[in-house]
Amino acid sequence: MSRDLAASPSASATRMHAITDETTAIVDMVLEYARRRILSDDTPLDKPFTPAELRRLAGRTISEEGMGARRALALFENVLAPSCITTEHPQYLSFIPSAPSKAATAFDLIVSATAVYGGSWLEGSGAVYAENDVLAWLAHEFGLPETAGGVFVQGGTIGNLSALVAARDHADRLRREAGRPRPERWVVIASAEAHSSIASAAKVMDIDVVAVPVGESGMLHGDAVRPALVEHGEAVIAVVATGGSTNFGIVDDIASIAALKDEHDFWLHIDGAYGLAAALSALARPRFAGIERADSLIVDPHKWLFTPFDSCALLYRDPEIARLAHTQHAEYLDALTESTEYNPSDYSVQLTRRARGLPLWFSLATFGAQAYRDAIGVSIELAHAVASEIAARDYLALVREPQLSVVVFERVGWSPGDYAHWSNRLLDDQHAFVVPSSHAGRTNARFAIVNPRTTLDDLIGILDSMQ
Ligand SMILES: *Cc1c(COP(=O)(O)O)cnc(C)c1O
Repeated sequence: MSRDLAASPSASATRMHAITDETTAIVDMVLEYARRRILSDDTPLDKPFTPAELRRLAGRTISEEGMGARRALALFENVLAPSCITTEHPQYLSFIPSAPSKAATAFDLIVSATAVYGGSWLEGSGAVYAENDVLAWLAHEFGLPETAGGVFVQGGTIGNLSALVAARDHADRLRREAGRPRPERWVVIASAEAHSSIASAAKVMDIDVVAVPVGESGMLHGDAVRPALVEHGEAVIAVVATGGSTNFGIVDDIASIAALKDEHDFWLHIDGAYGLAAALSALARPRFAGIERADSLIVDPHKWLFTPFDSCALLYRDPEIARLAHTQHAEYLDALTESTEYNPSDYSVQLTRRARGLPLWFSLATFGAQAYRDAIGVSIELAHAVASEIAARDYLALVREPQLSVVVFERVGWSPGDYAHWSNRLLDDQHAFVVPSSHAGRTNARFAIVNPRTTLDDLIGILDSMQ
């Protein structure tokens, strides 16, 4: 090959990776935008565009030559970003909002910049150490033994699935070792108000969910779980208690469910994706009595622990059980699987892993635990304050007393169409993002509060708009 022929393709092949004036300008431009966005105090709520609008405004964005960074970034800033709702906006009160600390968001850039591989100790020991320090702190907060451990995974859905897979593996091994037959169908026992990800995990695992009905309070109690344990006996993989339901923020009566361990041998999993963060605040800690007996639990830092999407802390009482269930074996992985070091990938259903616990580590290490307790506490107090405000208005009715930071209420006399109309107007006016929800077939309105910058005045303004 002549020199000329070789030079041009290789210059093109390294153009994206070489350190040149072009790539330096791109990095500067992107970091400048990121800095502006992270520190912006007036990013609007924004709202979705239709596919047709986006097609018209953005058009075809991919070509053989590329459009250049300046145009691509301008397209993102002026068209694509404004068509994404600002989930960290203080008036974003639907689903579960996000409320990352500035430190966590900024550090998320570093997780990318350092190209850390978070799956193995060999490749990412320092990152794994820091993540495990956070997990050890959480385990201590929840009363788990010092030997507890786990991994940060993508989200609560993957966390619940990974925990239940470990629980099934364990149940299967116990039955086998005791020479007892494997049940025809495995089951998981959970509240009828458990999160949809439990049903999703069961579907993936091809097992059944026994949905135990709950009373008016929405709380699952041990007394209701006992008959299901008796009925399904050997087939039970785990009992799932919810530590803060997504719809209502209701915490199951974990203590009475955990106490059943004295009568029955079962795996207790706590789904605390949204609510378990509240156990860090003295205002809510007593509601979580019994979690110290959990065999596994999850809590999502991207919900109420102030980190950007996406991150779930998954903890096991005995991580060795999870390691046996999840370690992937392959020749190219021998150097990892034959070591005794702590490899996060061995504890969940994913292999390649972003060190997605690091933004929480940085923010928590920076500000300390008390800042977290305080920031969580203000949302709990705000939920109770707005509940009193709702109770005092004759055109509104609380559906349930809030326990954590979700408040669900009805506008007396409104049809589903009235709620939809009101909700659309709130977003059109860029006032707030509150989508209608429902309970027992009745439409309602729901505030999910995790942002310490949301104020009582903000919420009262929304209540006033329903008059
Ligand atoms: C949000 C949530 C989940 C699912 O978590 P993702 O991170 O969205 O996958 C599971 N359980 C509960 C109680 C939740 O609130």
